Formats: sequence, C-alpha cells, structure tokens
Amino acid sequence: MKHVQIAIIGGGLAGLSAATVFEKNNINYLIIEKDELVGGKQKTSIINDYICDHGFQILLTASPDVKRLLSIKDLSPQYFSQGAKVWNNDNFYTIPNPLKNPLWIPYLLFHPILKKRDCLALLRLKLSLKGQSLGDIFSQPNQPTHSLFENLNFSKACQDLFLKPFFRGVYLENDLETSARLCLFYWKCFLEGYAIIPKNGIAAIPNQLAATLNQNNIMCNTQIIQLHKNLLTTSNDTRIKADYICCATDYSAAATLFKLPKQRFQATKTYYYETGTPVINNCYLHLDGSTGPINNLYNVTAVNKYAGPQNKTLISVSTLPTATESDDYEKNVKAHLKTMFGNAIENWNLVTHFHIPKALHYQPISYGVLNTHYNSNNIYFCGDWTIQGSIQGALYSGRKVAESLVSKLTS
Ligand SMILES: Cc1cc2nc3c(=O)[nH]c(=O)nc-3n(C[C@H](O)[C@H](O)[C@H](O)COP(=O)(O)OP(=O)(O)OC[C@H]3O[C@@H](n4cnc5c(N)ncnc54)[C@H](O)[C@@H]3O)c2cc1C
Repeated sequence: MKHVQIAIIGGGLAGLSAATVFEKNNINYLIIEKDELVGGKQKTSIINDYICDHGFQILLTASPDVKRLLSIKDLSPQYFSQGAKVWNNDNFYTIPNPLKNPLWIPYLLFHPILKKRDCLALLRLKLSLKGQSLGDIFSQPNQPTHSLFENLNFSKACQDLFLKPFFRGVYLENDLETSARLCLFYWKCFLEGYAIIPKNGIAAIPNQLAATLNQNNIMCNTQIIQLHKNLLTTSNDTRIKADYICCATDYSAAATLFKLPKQRFQATKTYYYETGTPVINNCYLHLDGSTGPINNLYNVTAVNKYAGPQNKTLISVSTLPTATESDDYEKNVKAHLKTMFGNAIENWNLVTHFHIPKALHYQPISYGVLNTHYNSNNIYFCGDWTIQGSIQGALYSGRKVAESLVSKLTS
C-alpha cells in the first residue's frame, strides 16, 4: 500500500494550485486524477488542425491568483478587443471601452444603444471599484446581478443588449440570479486587465502549473472510488493511505464520495464552424441579447492566429441550452446565424461541438461558501464550487487549503 502525506483527489486548477504550495514547502503529496491528463474543466483538443477549447473560456489577467500563480507571458496571450459587439436584430454595434481608448469618446456621444446615463453609470462603477479590494467586494450587501443593473440606473437597452448577454455568458445562467458580488469582481478584472486566451488554448493554463510540479507526484488515469477514513481505494484496485486528504474534485464527484446534497448546474454548448469568407473580421466578443439560442460568438482565428491553418477562419458560437433541447438545436443555431450573416453561413462547416452539462454551479445570493475543513478525518475541500465558479475561484481555493495545511504541518 502506498503511503503519502497528502493525497490530492483531482488534478484540475484547484488541485494543481494546492500542489504548487506543497511542492514549494517540500511536503510529500500525490495528485490522483481520473482523466488521462490534468486540467479538469480546462480542456483543449486539436480537431482538423484547429485548437478548440471545450467551451468558451477566457482568462482575466487581473485576477489576483492568476497574477500570483501563472506567468501570463509564458502563455503567449492572445487578446480580445476591449468592449463588445452587440446584436440589435438588424446589425452588430460596437460597445467600446473609451477608458482604455479615448478615441471612442466622440462615437459614444451619438451611440445607437448606450445613453448618457449608461456612460455615467459605467464611469461611476469604475471609480467605485477602483478603491475596492476583493475583500471589500465580497463583503458588500448581496443582491442578484439583475438588481444591481437596475440599481445602477442602466437603461433597458444597455441591460438587454449588452450587460445581460455578457453576464449570461460569464455565469452560463439566463436569469442573472447569480450574486452581484461576482459581477463586481469580474467587472473590476475587466477594467484592470485584459481578457486573453493562451496561444495553445485554455489547457495551457493547467499545463503551465503542472510543469512546475514533480511529475512523479501526479497519477493520472486513476479514479478514487471510495474512501474510508484516510484510506483511498482507486479504480485500479490499489489502496493509498494519506495523512491528509485534499478533495479537489468537481462538486458532483465530491457529492458522490462524501454524500453531499444535490446541486443545480449551468450548462453550455459551444459549436466551432470553419468558414470560407470571414463574416467577422475583428477580435471582439459578439453578444446576442435576442430570444434566439445564441449567447455569444467570436472569430477564434482572428483573436488567436495560431488557432488554425493559415487563411482559414474558425468561429466559436456558444449557447446556454436548457435540459429539454431537441435534436434540432444545432439547426436552430444555424438558422439564427443566418439572420445575422445571411446566406454566407451556408458555407460554414461544423468542425466540432462540446456540450458541458455541468459547466458551473449555480451561485445565487443564498449560495453558502462551504467550510473547507470537512471533519475530524483530516479531509479538506477545495475547488471552484467551494467559493466561486471561475479560474480565480479554483486557484484561490486550492492555494488557501494548502496554505492552511502547510501551517498545520509545520507548526
Ligand atoms: C465551459 C466553461 C466555461 C468557463 N469559462 C470560464 C471563464 O471564461 N473564466 C473563468 O475564470 N472560468 C471559467 N470557467 C470555470 C473554470 O474553468 C473552472 O472554475 C475551473 O477550471 C474549475 O477548476 P477545479 O479544479 O475547481 O475543478 P475541475 O476543473 O472540475 O477539476 C476537478 C478534477 O477532479 C477530477 N476528479 C473528479 N472525480 C475524481 C475522482 N473520483 N478521482 C480522481 N479525480 C477525480 C476531474 O477529472 C477533474 O480533473 C468555465 C468553465 C467551463 C466548463
């Protein structure tokens, strides 16, 4: 029987983040990951020479634990344009970020969607967030995100066409019941940094963390199927004894292993199309606030020229499906794309698609942050679901749990 000081169940960002702390402190640990590769929800596949992430994901460079744990430069960041394009049933209109590029200010004076009150609300928000730490944001009185937009006095058009579709794409949740604290956190990150994707796709993030670890301490293709006190049984029928267990799995797996209650999840489906003529020739995220099935789309190969063969265009189209979507879902997506881009889309070929039914956990204002110290069996929880469904949440939770274990072990 193998004996380790700390068994980390799950090699997603949270497990890897915890492992980097143990590695630095010379503490004996083992990551046990059920998949072939570490990375968890951050997966990338090469399909027909295109780099396709499993779902639309971006990295916000201003997130505190991203700055702390990752080298953005070594990810060869590929940048989205600041702002967005929004679909208003006849055309896409640019919502610029004049705070990063003042040349946009004259355009805002006669903007077809943003009113003076929207510009003022955006400015007030920026000024109030500037002085706030993460601690300040997360101790504000809580409210759902849709109430925050009302309270900040944004116009209906700005909410419906820009803010709501934008945050639906972030939370993967249609009603924006998600806590406004998360909205403020993301807003601060967008204002203070950039939205990027690594040149080699989103999986480059966990790969960068894993490369800093002793590879002998990572055991892939091994699922923990049972725990009894500090004894772990694996799918390979081996047993591992651990002084401490750091459970860094997704919520469903933790719920199965530890008999936790059921939770609601948010789903997403992303379609990748190869197109002949690029109908989108820019690096903006395109948002659709209409009742159609699409939430957002963008030209992957414009943002990241390394994401496909030269002179080819790859478009990513993301949707928020309900549990009851029919088999015709992709047909509906294509029909909606036709209203946006006309007959040009007849030549779009589906390269692949990813359906992720449990992409994020639902985080309404009643969502309670779980106590990460589980019980007397020396079991600790981390993972995005223990705090916040994001790269920041996963990295932070892993680091925090590992730091508290290190101080326990070294005191
Ligand atoms: C489609 C999509 C879009 C997203 N977009 C963004 C975005 O734009 N920006 C952002 O900040 N965040 C985004 N996120 C969220 C972010 O990717 C996640 O919050 C983060 O990757 C979660 O990391 P984690 O380590 O907590 O969990 P996971 O990535 O779920 O890792 C858990 C790991 O545990 C393993 N495991 C489970 N059970 C067992 C077991 N019994 N034994 C061994 N191993 C096990 C799993 O295989 C997995 O590798 C998105 C997520 C998705 C899915």
